[in-house]
Amino acid sequence: MQDLFPFEHYFDNKGEIKRNELDNNDGLWTRREIITRYLLVSAVLDQGPDLEGVRLLFKDVINALYSKEIRIFHKPLDFFKELGISIDEILEKHDGVKKIRADTWARENKSNPGKYNLFTDRTNQVLGYAIYRWGVVLCVPFLLEKDLQKNGRESSEPLVAYIEDWDSAEIMSQQIKDNKRYGLGKAIGDKAGHLFAKWYIHTFELVKKNDSSFGPLSYELPFDSNAGRVLFRTGFLLNWADLSDYKNWDVIQEGKGKSGKHYIRVTNIRGRKSDRFSDLKDFIDSYELICVEYLKVKKRRPSKVEIQQIPNILLLNTNYGIGDLDDGLMYIGTNYCFNHDEPRCFQCPVKNLCLGYTNRNELITNYRT
Ligand code: SF4
Repeated sequence: MQDLFPFEHYFDNKGEIKRNELDNNDGLWTRREIITRYLLVSAVLDQGPDLEGVRLLFKDVINALYSKEIRIFHKPLDFFKELGISIDEILEKHDGVKKIRADTWARENKSNPGKYNLFTDRTNQVLGYAIYRWGVVLCVPFLLEKDLQKNGRESSEPLVAYIEDWDSAEIMSQQIKDNKRYGLGKAIGDKAGHLFAKWYIHTFELVKKNDSSFGPLSYELPFDSNAGRVLFRTGFLLNWADLSDYKNWDVIQEGKGKSGKHYIRVTNIRGRKSDRFSDLKDFIDSYELICVEYLKVKKRRPSKVEIQQIPNILLLNTNYGIGDLDDGLMYIGTNYCFNHDEPRCFQCPVKNLCLGYTNRNELITNYRT
């Protein structure tokens, strides 16, 4: 974010956010509010065939719009009022990113550079992408502002207040998708909702609430493909269920990955349960605490454990949170555990713990995310 010229002054010369200035106003809104708006749009956009290109496009478009006084996080309506310019900038910057990234992307994905396209669902339609991915998200703070006005109230942090009004960060991450009035629906997935929670609480430390409901264990791990690949290859996921269970749940889709390998669809793990350690009282005690006090997703003692919530249990009473774990998984996934037959296992810091490396090489060679 410090590469965006409208927000340069939010950061010190070491690139650290000026935390003591988060409550300063930048126009009508606090800096905390503006950053939160930026993160929500960013979480929705942070997907697609080439993440590096997606992030470059996001940065270039924001810089271009702000240089033309279209200040979309300060005045979300400007995106629509100046829709012609918004569309032109997205198209122009997409062409620029394509020139930089298409050859590399095509090489890595055994594809044709001409097919490089960051617009949603591989269509070529910029209008759908602009409205569905950018516009819908920008409408959330705008609608919150309108609703406050309707009720004769004012706030310099409508989005922040809305987010922290939920019982926990986990509930919030579900509501930014499913809420009847403000939910983004299919524009945001579970992974992006959890990524937003991680950025808000862990990466940018924007959270104002000071309790376990918005603390380091208050949301689930964002199961993206890098994290999922590491959790699978290391054998972590096989601690909780058999390979046949993952096949039955469509987490493992045989022959559906690149080059005919088995595809690991990590997001399908969500909601799947393990009863392997149901008779371990301490384990279930910890799970009850996580569900009731941290995630706030259950009122009573559960009998089975949802697999995607196991990292929260294991991190209980440690100095680490979900954000730290996700940072570590992303680091391993993007620097060592590449999505092909020959990841850099010999240099990988977790190789001695990794089932794929030490014992079951087929977990590396036969599966792709
Ligand atoms: S040892 Fe290899 S397979 Fe295991 S996590 Fe590291 S890079 Fe991935």
